[in-house]
Amino acid sequence: AKELGKNNIQFYTREMNASIEEKLLLLEGLRRALEEDQFHLLYQPKVDLHTGQVFGVEALVRWQHPEHGMVGPDRFIPLAEESGLIIALGDWVLRTACAQNRAWQDAGLPPLRVSVNVSPRQFEEPQLVQRVQRALADAGLAAEWLELEVTEGVIMRDLQQAVAKMAMVKAMGASLSIDDFGTGYSSLSALKSFPISTLKIDKSFVRDLGNGGGDEAIASSIISLAHRLKLRVIAEGVETEQQRAFLCENGCDEMQGYLFSRPLPPEQLASLLSSGARP
Ligand code: C2E
Ligand code: CA
Ligand code: CA
Ligand code: CA
Repeated sequence: AKELGKNNIQFYTREMNASIEEKLLLLEGLRRALEEDQFHLLYQPKVDLHTGQVFGVEALVRWQHPEHGMVGPDRFIPLAEESGLIIALGDWVLRTACAQNRAWQDAGLPPLRVSVNVSPRQFEEPQLVQRVQRALADAGLAAEWLELEVTEGVIMRDLQQAVAKMAMVKAMGASLSIDDFGTGYSSLSALKSFPISTLKIDKSFVRDLGNGGGDEAIASSIISLAHRLKLRVIAEGVETEQQRAFLCENGCDEMQGYLFSRPLPPEQLASLLSSGARP
């Protein structure tokens, strides 16, 4: 067995077969992190490819560990999900993102839509709709400025229940998008019954765009599928001018990626937007 010193916590990932002790140690760290306020959110701009304007941001959680420094979500979200801690953490993310968005509006920034990632277990939880309502009410934020990003995993668990819950979120005035589209299995016929507004092309299909591999066919198929279903389509992980050009030529509506901006702390996002930056 691996040594488990204080300074060599083995962070659990989906790929790693972490031992029980390693998971318990990490879980304990996550609980303490929530209590001691060690999480924060970064915000990555979303750009409208037709107008060139930033219309929204995606909230992405980070853990500032007292000994290990910045820990990315891929290293703790899977365990938070598995253990159920995602309910409390996700609620914190939702409330923080709504409050931040209201604060930007109060500071005079053009209104933005904030997108929050909601994991399958969090989406399934019976109180989700009330939690969203409470986060909006406590922040004083109108629902139209909030979007939930859910993955195909949500749909695979219980289709009818997922559709009913999506309808409630939509009725409240918030919007929904399908994240990482194309990486999971979801029935195309089910897609048309979802009250969603946007499909997000996963960055694994964006990476090699323009190099003449198979990803051009996948990306352009997702774009036309989305448009035929009257949905908007956003590409994530856009890093190069070549990728952006391909997406523009193929009618993609929105993009997100390092080409325009990395995820930023709230103050930096505000100064980027008040300087009137354009891609
Ligand atoms: P995701 O929702 O698919 O988020 C996209 C990831 O791509 C983010 O990684 C983002 O920082 C990164 N990214 C953005 N632009 C680029 C780019 O141009 N190139 C490349 N290579 N990467 C780019 P991050 O922040 O590490 O988040 C990883 C995953 O963790 C997210 O994937 C999401 O599934 C999950 N996650 C993050 N925050 C939350 C949260 O608050 N709640 C939940 N449930 N999951 C979260
Ligand atoms: Ca996302
Ligand atoms: Ca993704
Ligand atoms: Ca994801």
